[in-house]
Amino acid sequence: MSETHHAIAIDGPAASGKSTVAKVLAKRLGLIMVNSGAMYRAVTWEVVRQGVDPTDPAAVVALLKTLAVGCGVKDGHSTMTIDGVGPGAELRFEAVNAAVSKVSAVPEVRDVLVASQRDLLRLGDLVMEGRDIGSVVFPDTPFKLYIDASEEVRRQRRAAEGQQDAVGERDRQDAQRKTSPLVVADGAVVIDSSEIGIEEVVEKALEVLKQRGWFERESEEARS
Ligand code: C5P
Repeated sequence: MSETHHAIAIDGPAASGKSTVAKVLAKRLGLIMVNSGAMYRAVTWEVVRQGVDPTDPAAVVALLKTLAVGCGVKDGHSTMTIDGVGPGAELRFEAVNAAVSKVSAVPEVRDVLVASQRDLLRLGDLVMEGRDIGSVVFPDTPFKLYIDASEEVRRQRRAAEGQQDAVGERDRQDAQRKTSPLVVADGAVVIDSSEIGIEEVVEKALEVLKQRGWFERESEEARS
């Protein structure tokens, strides 16, 4: 953690509602919103675009070494470019959905992206959502949430968005990989969003942040 800036870590499986919660928290608390999944998707998009086999870690690493990966923040949101180009809507393409868990299991890919994610804390207080934020990226933050939902509910959410996305299969790969698997981080509070609306999830999240001293932290900084 940087000395002056703080991170809220939100992890959880695909379509658990963690992005929406992170966005609402970012807006209400004036934080930078970082979607770490978009970074893994951007690298995967390049793997797919260049016809590299996502199941071949050596080939993925060879490609990675040739890429200029740029992470930044624009209008309060994280941005990512590969060789100066942002993938945009292509991040959500079916081919990316199908390959991203394989690419993100490659340790060298994680090393590059985790370093960039930690570096963003220089720019301000942030809320970062992903799979390993509380366990690996910011293990020392006291502000850790894990947003869950049943597989059926998550599958329906993706289908309602018109997305072809085998969320259960992605989760299995994300939870079973050797490096930084999806886990409930030590000290994280689990909120199940299957049966409750987003407002209620946000209220619970704010309650956790309050208990852990997020708001005292802000007033202390304001006084100093
Ligand atoms: O969050 P999203 O579903 O867009 O993430 C896409 C994929 O990126 C995940 O299924 C996972 O394989 C990978 N990911 C990761 N670690 C993170 C965030 C995402 O491995 N912190």
